[in-house]
Amino acid sequence: MEEAAVKQVWRMLDENESRFHDALYADIRKPKVETQSYEIIGIKNEIIHTLEHLDEWAKPSAVDVFEEFKVNQPRVYKQPKGAVLIIGTWNYPLDLTLDLLISAISAGNTAVIKASENTPVTGKLLAELIPRYLDSESYRVVNGDKDQATELLKYHWAHILYTGGAKVARIVMAAASKHLTPVTLELGGKTPTIVTEKANIAIAAKRIAWVKVWNLGQTCMSTDYVLVHESVREQFVTELIKYIKTFAENSGVDGMSRLINNMHFHRISDMLAATKGKVAFGGHQDEAKLFVEPTIILDPALDDSTLESEIFGPLLPLITYKTLPEARDLITRIDPTPLGLYVMTEDNEQAEYFFTHIRSGGAAINDPMAQLAVPSVPFGGFGESGMGSYRGKAGFETFSHLKSAVTTFTDPASEQANEWRYALGDREEKFQLLKNLEIPLS
Ligand code: NAD
Repeated sequence: MEEAAVKQVWRMLDENESRFHDALYADIRKPKVETQSYEIIGIKNEIIHTLEHLDEWAKPSAVDVFEEFKVNQPRVYKQPKGAVLIIGTWNYPLDLTLDLLISAISAGNTAVIKASENTPVTGKLLAELIPRYLDSESYRVVNGDKDQATELLKYHWAHILYTGGAKVARIVMAAASKHLTPVTLELGGKTPTIVTEKANIAIAAKRIAWVKVWNLGQTCMSTDYVLVHESVREQFVTELIKYIKTFAENSGVDGMSRLINNMHFHRISDMLAATKGKVAFGGHQDEAKLFVEPTIILDPALDDSTLESEIFGPLLPLITYKTLPEARDLITRIDPTPLGLYVMTEDNEQAEYFFTHIRSGGAAINDPMAQLAVPSVPFGGFGESGMGSYRGKAGFETFSHLKSAVTTFTDPASEQANEWRYALGDREEKFQLLKNLEIPLS
């Protein structure tokens, strides 16, 4: 049953591809190639992986225990949690609802999706299509703003998965606590990208320029700011300007996503106006088109407007560092638990240094956001960037209750082995028996 429903999501995407392209263009002017890749194909890959592995995930799994306890056949059953609530956001309005829906369905749950009010055309399309492809007794879409979300949060859900900012996450968690409902929080933060002196500078610059143009930098795990080694700074900035310029010229203002609404336009515009860093490239704004050009800002101080909070837009502050410990210290001061962490280097040991010292949600070498492109790699934050994860097996388990079970026996020998615990006979003798059963430390 779950497999059939998951396949229906695939069909819904496949049979309505151009309607999804149009909806995302209407909502955020997302170019077709962006919708097709990081939304539609990403979800389809997740579906294929889920269908390939669902039987294996769903069956009871054995638990590795001491030899002495193997007789009890310890195992873990995966049970649906029940009715789950998925609160989505607007920057990837398909991926951040349907990917989660697949995990919820595959684990056997019913689900309500609360789509973001900031992408109303996509939300309306989902509300129209989901009942056509899935059983509407089990899966529903609710469109609306925080009032609808607040109403939904009054109910007793079996699990709530929220994607969005940390401020609302606290409201979600407080509401969930009334019913002791478990939550998964997918948030953001200030994701660093370190460009070391051992990086392929041209490729590093090209890929960092890409994430600031892609969805106009409105990706939770995209590069928020760059730390560049002093010895390669000049070369890196030159390459970065070259690529941002080329990408922007090739796309044109209308070929790039726009900022999602006026509030976010002014947030970005104010951040730019307040920076004390030097604008090395960009800065052009068009309020009518909700557009701010990808903009490079050199040498902002740590209390600069661009380093105080998550940018979630096309600005790119750039800080110079001399040593790896200095870069690590700067990251820890800016945001100790970012959602992503990227190290541009040809020396994996340099990357390992940051991977082991910074507690980010995810990480990648030489490509910002690469961990999302590889299907079914668990995705989630830590600390202020979130809690819990989904995609692939992690998503299945997020929406499953993992129930441990063991088997015991009533034959005379088994009962004899239990005699020490009953308050019968000589207690001291039983204590000694128990001591003899202790497994020594090897
Ligand atoms: P948003 O405004 O769309 O809000 C997210 C959801 O919360 C919406 O469905 C909205 O209706 C609901 N909401 C708003 N106020 C609420 C309230 N008071 N009570 C209950 N629900 C409420 O999204 P946003 O906050 O602008 O999202 C941007 C943030 O999301 C950024 O920080 C970004 O990094 C983060 N994000 C994280 C991920 C991830 O997967 N980790 C993905 C995308 C975005």
